[in-house]
Amino acid sequence: MNLFDTHAHFSCDAEKTAATLARAYEAGVTQLMAVGGSPELNRAAMLAYETVRDSTPNVRLALGLDRDQASPAGGSCPRYDFSPIIDNRKSLAAVGEIGLDFHYAPETAKAQCDLFAAQLELARELNLPVVIHTRDADDATLGVLDENDFHNGIIHCFTGSVPFERPLLDRGFMISISGIVTFRAAENVREAARYAPDDRLLVETDSPFLAPVPMRGKENEPSFLPHTVRFLAEQRKTTAESLALLTTANAEKLLPPSTP
Ligand SMILES: [Zn+2]
Repeated sequence: MNLFDTHAHFSCDAEKTAATLARAYEAGVTQLMAVGGSPELNRAAMLAYETVRDSTPNVRLALGLDRDQASPAGGSCPRYDFSPIIDNRKSLAAVGEIGLDFHYAPETAKAQCDLFAAQLELARELNLPVVIHTRDADDATLGVLDENDFHNGIIHCFTGSVPFERPLLDRGFMISISGIVTFRAAENVREAARYAPDDRLLVETDSPFLAPVPMRGKENEPSFLPHTVRFLAEQRKTTAESLALLTTANAEKLLPPSTP
C-alpha cells in the first residue's frame, strides 16, 4: 500500500519524530502532512518537515492557529501573529489547522469565528487550501465559510453526520476520515464515510490522538493508518489497495509537494 496520512501532529522531540517517520514509511505511509495549530505544534510540524530522509515519507507542511488560540469573549481585540504562516508560505501545502470547536470552548465562539475568518482570508491571499477542524459548530462553520465564499480544503477528522457532510461537499470540500470510524459508537461517522464520493475522500491519523481499533489506548502515529484504511475499505465495499490508490491520488491533487 502507498498511503497518504493527511493529518499528523508531532512533538518538538527530533529523535522521536525521526523514528515515527521511519516507522510510517515502513508501514506504507509514503506521504503525510505535518499539521500545526499552535506556536508549539507549528514548530513541531516544521521540524517534521525538515526531517526528510530516504526512508521517511515525503512531508507536506500546514501551519495555522487553531480554536484554542482564540482569546476569550470580552477580551480586547487581539492581533494574532500570522508571521510563521507568512514567513514559510513557500513551504506550505495548506493553512491549518484552523476552525471551530464549541464543544470545549463555547465561551470563545465569537473570537474563534474571527480567527477562523482571518485565516481563510490569509489562505486566499496565499492561494492555499485550508485544514478545518469543526466540532459542535456545524452552522457557524458553514456561516463563516459562506461569508468568506471559501471552497478549498479539508474537513479533517470528520465527526459529523451526513446532513452536515452534504453542504460541505456542495461547497467543494474534501472529507478526511480518521480512526474514529473504527470506534464502536461512531455509526454516524461510518455512514458519513460511506457517503463521501470517491473523489472527495481522504484518510488521516490525527496522531498522536485517536488511535484506531485495534491500537486503542496506544499513542497514535502515522504507521497505524493501514488499520483505518482496511476498516474503511470494508465499509465502502472495496479493497484496501484501491482505497489507498484513490485517497492518495486525491491528497496529491490537493496537496502537491512544495518546490524548493
Ligand atoms: Zn489535528
